[in-house]
Amino acid sequence: MKIIDIIQRETPSLSFEVFPPKTTDKIDAVFDAAMEIAALNPAFMSVTYGAGGGTSAYTAALCADLQNLRQVPVMAHLTCINSTKEQVHAQMQTLKDNKIENVMALRGDRVPEAHESDYRYASELIREIAADGSFCIGGACYPETHPESANSFDDVRHLKEKQDAGCAFFTTQMFFTNGVYYNFLYRVREAGVTVPVVAGIMPVTNAGSIKRICRISGATLPQRFCRIVDKYGYDPVKMQQAGIAYATQQIVDLFANGVKAVHVYSMNKPDVAAAIMANVSELLK
Ligand code: FAD
Repeated sequence: MKIIDIIQRETPSLSFEVFPPKTTDKIDAVFDAAMEIAALNPAFMSVTYGAGGGTSAYTAALCADLQNLRQVPVMAHLTCINSTKEQVHAQMQTLKDNKIENVMALRGDRVPEAHESDYRYASELIREIAADGSFCIGGACYPETHPESANSFDDVRHLKEKQDAGCAFFTTQMFFTNGVYYNFLYRVREAGVTVPVVAGIMPVTNAGSIKRICRISGATLPQRFCRIVDKYGYDPVKMQQAGIAYATQQIVDLFANGVKAVHVYSMNKPDVAAAIMANVSELLK
């Protein structure tokens, strides 16, 4: 099933992102976690693609398992910055062989090691996937501006290029203040971006990782959230409950303001995904 058909339904949708194992010994644990999350019956699930494409085989395999064993619509992420055209087309063929219909087409983060690459920007990948005609294509967007962008106007202009190249929808980088998303939506609509913009929400359940996550993503933490981390960050159980409550509040506010689709960065934590799903289950009907 195409993601665009799911996120354009009248009823709101909640979906989850998982990441594939980084090493072979983690396969079983990741598979079990992803299957538990799939059992929550999300609108769809996405599986990330390791930086540099190192886990490319796992991304397709996990998508195929989720789709075949749990009947959950899936979206495979695909990055291009460290890839040749041959590698990209081989991955597209693998996705087609596994009947995977949705691709999140990304540039990927630059890595220090030199790789042969035929791509500079995600729009080049998107154009190529669109020309193939087999996939519903999603792209990434950044309510607080991509860290490499000179300014927010350039960033939104490049976003429009991704829509023109063939993106059917965008998913946002995480944000912790909904006003950031609403302002972004206003700016992208003004710039001619008309496709749906799925809100990406990260439940922060680990105080240790939050600073690193914000540094990489460019997301800022509001004072309101910093107070929570200051107060409960020392205790993993308390921090998890507070993080779930905070993410739930964000999601309820988004739905209440007419946002149709929310994608939750599950960090492969079934208990967190389950708690959020339970908190908003009535809102999804
Ligand atoms: P692009 O759209 O190419 O943008 C990258 C930068 O280049 C931006 O600053 C943009 O403004 C600029 N730019 C674009 N076009 C031009 C142009 N023509 N001229 C000049 N500048 C230009 N990373 C992974 O490794 N694996 C994943 O699975 C993954 N999933 C993600 C999912 C989501 C929803 C998000 C938000 C991010 C994800 N990332 C993932 C991270 C992403 O790969 C990085 O943020 C990366 O740095 C940018 O990728 P992009 O596709 O947004 O790139």
